[in-house]
Amino acid sequence: MKILVINCGSSSLKYQLINMDNEMCLAQGLVERIGIEGSTLTQKVEGREKYIIKQSMQDHKDAIELVLNTLVDEINGVINSVDEISAVGHRVVHGGEFYSSSVLIDEKVMQALEECSKLAPLHNPPNIIGINACKALMPSTPMVAVFDTAFHQTMPEHAYIYPLPYELYENNKIRKYGFHGTSHKYVSQVASEMLEKNINDLKIVSCHLGNGASLAAIKGGKSIETSMGFTPLAGIAMGTRSGNIDPAIIAYMMEELDLSVEEVTNILNKKSGVLGISGISSDFRDLWAAAETDRRAKLALDVFHYKIRGFICNYAGVLGGVDCIIFTAGIGENSSKAREACCEGLEFLGVKIDKEKNNTFGKAVDISDKDSKVRVLVIPTNEELMIARDTKEIVNA
Ligand code: ADP
Repeated sequence: MKILVINCGSSSLKYQLINMDNEMCLAQGLVERIGIEGSTLTQKVEGREKYIIKQSMQDHKDAIELVLNTLVDEINGVINSVDEISAVGHRVVHGGEFYSSSVLIDEKVMQALEECSKLAPLHNPPNIIGINACKALMPSTPMVAVFDTAFHQTMPEHAYIYPLPYELYENNKIRKYGFHGTSHKYVSQVASEMLEKNINDLKIVSCHLGNGASLAAIKGGKSIETSMGFTPLAGIAMGTRSGNIDPAIIAYMMEELDLSVEEVTNILNKKSGVLGISGISSDFRDLWAAAETDRRAKLALDVFHYKIRGFICNYAGVLGGVDCIIFTAGIGENSSKAREACCEGLEFLGVKIDKEKNNTFGKAVDISDKDSKVRVLVIPTNEELMIARDTKEIVNA
């Protein structure tokens, strides 16, 4: 069974074709600059040179058409016919309170997704456009929506309700949703395999540290708390996002600096986080290099790690103890220095990492010291595989 996984952004599209018989990726690719001059498709197949096509693409339908043509291309393709694709799994950012798991897409689901667009105006509309484009090109292929928010729908009410007038929740759906759910779910499942323990018996703190970053407290395989909130702006300081700040700062900035809603939103999302503090970069490699001599680059890193340590301690309390801490995504998988800094001072929780073991990159590994009560794991995330697994399960059912 072959499953196509699609992740549509506003002007880009990522895809993977996965053979579910062995869970191997047959091809993966990225389409950039959709609807903008200079559209490009880049496809990677294990053991082959990168295949790059530069071709004008007006919209996502053009892009998906090119993806399908590339997958069946006589020389550069990996399948003979589009009919070999049994199902398509779509990454959808926001499922609101409608979905606590993945779902087979029908008209009712499409309506719900439209409704959720209000909650994720930047993310859900391109996801919907991608689904519609796929449906137009593959009308008889089943499609599944896999939500970033779904895994966190198990949070208890006291975790997701904000201390605001309750009507704002009832009438406007303002509550904590949480994101990166597919990743937190995937790595927690891998952790249970690595530790050879039933997931029902595990208390896990999962740290997804990429450009966007979030932590989740996972008890018995269920998310009970997470750092992102109503939007992916909340939680720890990120590459360019502020994370949690005093909410009064927003009104103060608007009045004092005469800024509009859009301008403040742009500052909080695009100009804050470690980029904002350092004034140098949102890329952690640049920051580590600069931190040798630059005070603000070092400060940005210190703030980032300090926030993470705070959340880890908070979640140890929320979980009533912690068996395992997971590091994943770009920073979590690749930066031994970041992992060390995130665990610094957590010895009182029983966290002790082995510096030698921590010196590994991009593969699943237990980096805890033999005396550590808490297992510290590095696990490369694989959201595409998780989406494909969910899609397979739903289509087979
Ligand atoms: P996203 O998917 O949210 O865009 P990724 O998970 O790809 O993000 O992570 C990107 C981040 O990972 C970047 O900030 C980059 O600096 C960081 N990163 C990648 N490799 C390293 C490394 N070796 N050391 C430190 N940071 C790294």
